[in-house]
Formats: sequence, structure tokens, C-alpha cells
Amino acid sequence: MKTDIAIIGAGTAGMSAAIYAKRAGKDVLMFEGYMPGGQIVVTPEVDNYPALGKVSGYDFAIGLFNQATELGTEMISANVSRITRKDGGFLVSYDGGEVEAKAIIIATGAKNRKLDVENEDKFTGYGVSYCATCDGAFFKGQTVAVVGGGNTAFEDAEVLASLCSKVYLIHRREGFRAEPEKVAKIKSLPNVEFILNAKVTELKGDDKLSGAVVEDVVSGEKREIALNGIFVAVGQTPSTDVFEGLVKRDNAGYIIAGEDCIAAEGVFVAGDCRTKKVRQLVTAAADGSVAALAASEYCSRD
Ligand code: NAP
Repeated sequence: MKTDIAIIGAGTAGMSAAIYAKRAGKDVLMFEGYMPGGQIVVTPEVDNYPALGKVSGYDFAIGLFNQATELGTEMISANVSRITRKDGGFLVSYDGGEVEAKAIIIATGAKNRKLDVENEDKFTGYGVSYCATCDGAFFKGQTVAVVGGGNTAFEDAEVLASLCSKVYLIHRREGFRAEPEKVAKIKSLPNVEFILNAKVTELKGDDKLSGAVVEDVVSGEKREIALNGIFVAVGQTPSTDVFEGLVKRDNAGYIIAGEDCIAAEGVFVAGDCRTKKVRQLVTAAADGSVAALAASEYCSRD
């Protein structure tokens, strides 16, 4: 099979790239290993995308997907395992086959970072979760904790505070990356208690989570809190290992490219997996358009 542009990843950046590349008249094949939509599918509410007002993350993702596929974007549900250069273009290998492409757009985003404490994997699905929107309802009326101080942690805390009797917000310092408006809202909720300057050092339980050991990073004092669930919201790591050798990555694994989204000859990168300061829906969509137009121009060169 052959295509003009292979897009790896069907999140906001990838689907925006597909829309722009199709409108530029290119054949587009998009690969997605899990489900279209990326991180936004599990975001309860998007309220900072210009002109949209309030919209659920799911509806936002469906809108993007419909727009990309109605324009003729073809989808392959598979993980890409390797991309190699071949005859001036690329050979994309995936579970189930190979595709030749003139240009590549990498839009694989990022996946949830773990706490890296003992028993985290053992209790995942048994009290440890990385998605409050997906799993919050299992903890209705119970006691849970959210770990992290970014926008995700505060959005998770809001979702959980509406369902659970008690929510601890555990963060390793006193300042937050989250927007002040989100912080103020959570501070006003009576069933949320902040545990600051603190890190989770141990997860307790037999078959499922029953508590966590929390260490005060200033005094070194440890205490155990009883918990039914713990929601880890400590940021993401980019999903870029498969592109080792094809592009340059920084120490954290982000693919190095500027605002032109050019990562290497014929390879473009869009969205959260690119080196950049602001990772938002609107910047992912913007990257998608920039990468797609650059890739389309690249495909049309003599
Ligand atoms: P983030 O902004 O990178 O925040 C991660 C948080 O986890 C930080 O508070 C960080 O602490 C903490 N942390 C990191 N590693 C840790 C560890 N090993 N142990 C304990 N704590 C740790 O991640 P995010 O909240 O997932 O957001 C990612 C991006 O998406 C951001 O750009 C965010 O603005 C954006 N986002 C936007 C929205 C929205 O606009 N509606 C919603 C969600 C996410 P330190 O601060 O001390 O480093």
C-alpha cells in the first residue's frame, strides 16, 4: 500500500493534521493503536478552546474524527513498530503490514507518568487509577486521593469531589502548575483536603489498595492515610521510543522541532510529543495544521 502522508497518532494534533492534509489534496493514512481522540477523550469538559464555549472532551474528539474521516482520511487501527527510509520516502511497519509514504507526521502525544512506588502496578485497576473521568464513579461515597499539582490533578479533584465523600490532594510542593482559577475552585470545596510538601512513598493493601504512606518532604515525617482509591496525575511522558534513530529527542524523550514542526527531512512532528512550552488543545491543533501544510508541500516537491 502507498500513501502521500502517514500520520502516526489520532489525537487532536494528528486529526487536525489529517484535516489540513486532506484539504491540501493529499492521500492520508492515519495510524492509531488504541482509540481515536487521544488524551482529550477522557477530559470531562473543555472550556478553553476559542469559540467553542463548554464542550465535553468526548464530543470534541468525535467532532475531529468525523471531520477527518468525512474528508477521506483512512484509518488503520494498529501500533506502528518501525519507520525506515526507503527510495526517498519511508516504509512504515505496523502490526499487520507495511505502507510506503512520502512523508511522515508524528503525533503520538504522551502517556501518563507513574508515581514509581512499590505496588503501583499491582494495584492498578484495584485502587490505583490514572483517569478520574473513567474510574471516578467506582469510588462513589468513598475516600480517595489525587497526586499532582497540575491542571489534570485539579480537574480530577473536581470530578472526584462531586462523587466521593473525601478527597485528599497530595502535592510535592506548595506552588501549583494548575491555573489559579482551578486552584481557587478546589480550595473552596469542603470535602477536599490539601496535603502539601508531601510525596507518596508506599501504597498499602492486600488484594486492593487500602491506604498510602505520605512523607512530609520538609520534616521527613511519615504518616499513613486510609484510602479506597488514588488517582495519579503527575504529568506525562512522550510516546516516542519507536522513532529513535529517525528523529532527534531531548533528554525527556520529546522530539526536537521548532514551531515549523520539522523534525527531519520528510518527518514532521505535531502536538504534545514535540519540544514546546505550551501543551494545550489549541497548540496541538495549531501544530497539526503547520505540520500538515509543510508535509503537503514536501510531498509536492520535484
Ligand atoms: P503537568 O502540568 O506537567 O503537572 C504535573 C504535576 O505533577 C506537577 O504538579 C508536578 O509537580 C507533579 N509531578 C511530576 N512528577 C511527579 C512525581 N514523580 N511525583 C509527584 N508529583 C510529580 O501535567 P498535567 O497536569 O497532566 O498537564 C499536562 C499539560 O496539559 C499541561 O500543559 C496542562 O496545562 C495541560 N492541561 C490543560 C488542561 C486544560 O487547560 N483544561 C487540562 C489538563 C491538562 P511540580 O509542579 O513540582 O513539577
